[in-house]
Amino acid sequence: MIETTTPDAAALLREAGLRVTDTRVAVIAALADMPHSGADAVVARVEATLPTTSRQAVYNVLNDLAAAGLARRIEPAGQPGLYELRVGDNHHHIVCQRCGAVADVDCVTGHAPCLTPSQTSGFDLAEAEVTFWGICSDCKALTVDAVVAAP
Ligand SMILES: [Zn+2]
Ligand SMILES: [Zn+2]
Repeated sequence: MIETTTPDAAALLREAGLRVTDTRVAVIAALADMPHSGADAVVARVEATLPTTSRQAVYNVLNDLAAAGLARRIEPAGQPGLYELRVGDNHHHIVCQRCGAVADVDCVTGHAPCLTPSQTSGFDLAEAEVTFWGICSDCKALTVDAVVAAP
């Protein structure tokens, strides 16, 4: 049997003081399977198991989960908001400039803020959200193939 890391959605919801509903459980399962998903991808996944769920209901659940701290919303420039269940560890993201693939990058120091600016203009630092940009391995492989295939 394949070991699954699907979180116990019902327990998470109860701990956060949220009512356990089919839609909320389905959204958490979708995000566990597909971290860094946009709302539309989550809607498509949830509709596969709960065909009567409305788009708006899924959007509401994503907002509820984010507000309750169960999900995190990231917004790399040029992309719709992406949701994930990995919260509270101040991790960062690397985004492919070609295909938009997103991968996690662990926080360098293990706690927020892991970067210290040279000056803070009097602000107390809370966290640093860093987006690294690059080319993912899939896109890199395509580029190499293209070069090899060229006459
Ligand atoms: Zn890519
Ligand atoms: Zn992440």
